[in-house]
Amino acid sequence: MTFSIHGSAVARGIAIGRAVLVASSRVDVAHYFIEASQIQAEVARVRAGRDAVVDEIHRLQAAMPKDAPQELTALLDVHLMLLQDEMLTSGVKQWITDRLYNAEWALTSQMEVLARQFDEMEDEYLRERKADLEQVVERVLRYMRGTAAPVAHSTPRRKTQQDLLLDDTVDVPLILVAHDVSPADMLQFKQSVFAGFVTDVGGKTSHTAIVARSLDIPAVVGARLSSQLIRQDDWIIIDGEAGVVIVDPSPIILAEYGFKQRQGELERTRLARLRNTPAITLDGQRVELLANIEMPEDAANALSVGATGVGLFRSEFLFMGRSTQTQNHLPDEDEQYQAYVRAVLGMQGLPVTIRTVDVGADKPLDSRHDRTLNDEAHLNPALGLRAIRWSLADPAMFLTQLRAILRAAALGPVNLLIPMLAHLSEIRQTLALIDQARAELVQRGQAFGPVRLGAMIEIPAAALTLKTFLRYFDFLSVGTNDLIQYTLAIDRADESVAHLYDPLHPAVLHLVAETIAQGHAQGKSVSVCGEMAGDVSLTRLLLGMGLRSFSMHPSQILAVKQEVLRADTVKLRAWAQKVLEAEDPAEAMTST
Ligand code: PEP
Ligand code: MG
Repeated sequence: MTFSIHGSAVARGIAIGRAVLVASSRVDVAHYFIEASQIQAEVARVRAGRDAVVDEIHRLQAAMPKDAPQELTALLDVHLMLLQDEMLTSGVKQWITDRLYNAEWALTSQMEVLARQFDEMEDEYLRERKADLEQVVERVLRYMRGTAAPVAHSTPRRKTQQDLLLDDTVDVPLILVAHDVSPADMLQFKQSVFAGFVTDVGGKTSHTAIVARSLDIPAVVGARLSSQLIRQDDWIIIDGEAGVVIVDPSPIILAEYGFKQRQGELERTRLARLRNTPAITLDGQRVELLANIEMPEDAANALSVGATGVGLFRSEFLFMGRSTQTQNHLPDEDEQYQAYVRAVLGMQGLPVTIRTVDVGADKPLDSRHDRTLNDEAHLNPALGLRAIRWSLADPAMFLTQLRAILRAAALGPVNLLIPMLAHLSEIRQTLALIDQARAELVQRGQAFGPVRLGAMIEIPAAALTLKTFLRYFDFLSVGTNDLIQYTLAIDRADESVAHLYDPLHPAVLHLVAETIAQGHAQGKSVSVCGEMAGDVSLTRLLLGMGLRSFSMHPSQILAVKQEVLRADTVKLRAWAQKVLEAEDPAEAMTST
């Protein structure tokens, strides 16, 4: 039966494919396709992992004292039974043989199928066996870890609508469905096999959504209960623009969305022609269209859509998803330096704005451990030790990053951007540490380059004390994602208040407009690097407010450029003023 689930739209486009349900704790399990010639080896790998766990349990049973509690012996029997269950073994084999999933992926897929069956059982005792199943699978995965097959596989071809209706075999697009995916795990999917994503939780500007957007494939977040309502292998459609997920679509719906999908592809081809067209408005205003990137390698993508620089390199992604157990759980100076150099050289002489690390809140260093820690230890992580606060709390770590950035600046134009500043004392400490980093490099005799220094304006307190910021910084960058969150007291990652997260709230518009106006009045450049900058429905308004520098995901640049090319800023200025003064700006935008 067809049904739909609504969430927040993250990335434009339509994806049609089969659901791959992944438990949040297992999204970091490798997902790739194998070659047909590897089927036997992959099946053998799962078997070997399973046999190892069976042996382990037998050894435990043999070593069990006579007076051991009966529950314990019974539990081991259950684990053995689950491991040897035909449903598990034959199911896994089928995922590998029919779909060419790698061994770990096949095992977790089959586990999801069986876990669902346990969930639906009437008997409470049997329902609870789901946890045992998860435990044994976890142990098999652990045994298999050392025996991973070489990763060599193709991303599935995106099938056409006709293909989809005709055949249903190996390379059908796959759509990941999970309760939650951390930003770090989402980043791993950059080279992934997935044609789309759906998560139960998250807001439109949560960091998971931001990374999903950078993957430039359709995604919907905050689609509550989707990981419970959708089953492994269900056919689903994601409408990334409307924020809708359609489950088990009828042939008519499939045909309609297939058509929409092709229209979208045509539109992209058309937009691609604007790549080398300078972004100049009808009245001759030059507009800077910069890229937001997460990894140095994204520079190539930025150049491919004609970005004229990087307006925001979220350096925290270099710090995330590393094991907190190991010594090098933070990147050292050389590792960071190499990464910044790759971004600088990758942009071929165009400026790169490197933002110092902004972890905390919905960007935990490690996807699981820290999230639990955060939730338990800090009730309001978004108001806690985040971004510059985290950096200033660990000056040695901050100095390491500053030295790496300053050294990379010797190889090309670099802007140094500081997140989440609100206090004069933080500005002073930051500037002092930048001086200290330079002095340390001088002492070491190491080369470094000049940097333009910028502050993120993303806390209302900063937007209300711009004079101070303009005295100390060369440029400002408005982080609208956080500015909206903190102005409206709406957690950007919480889907239950996503409807109140409003970029067009008069208070938000007032703060953005003032920042642009005051910055320009002092001859300083002002850019917007929050998601508002990449939202084509807001381009005209921001231009009318005087903005001339937009930084966004590369995937948005050409569509925003199209808006710029059609705009007349003289007319837009008067119109934007009316919108800014309106009680209901959203309504004023359409009626005036
Ligand atoms: C912002 O807050 O708008 C911003 C660009 O930074 P981030 O989304 O990484 O918090
Ligand atoms: Mg921010």
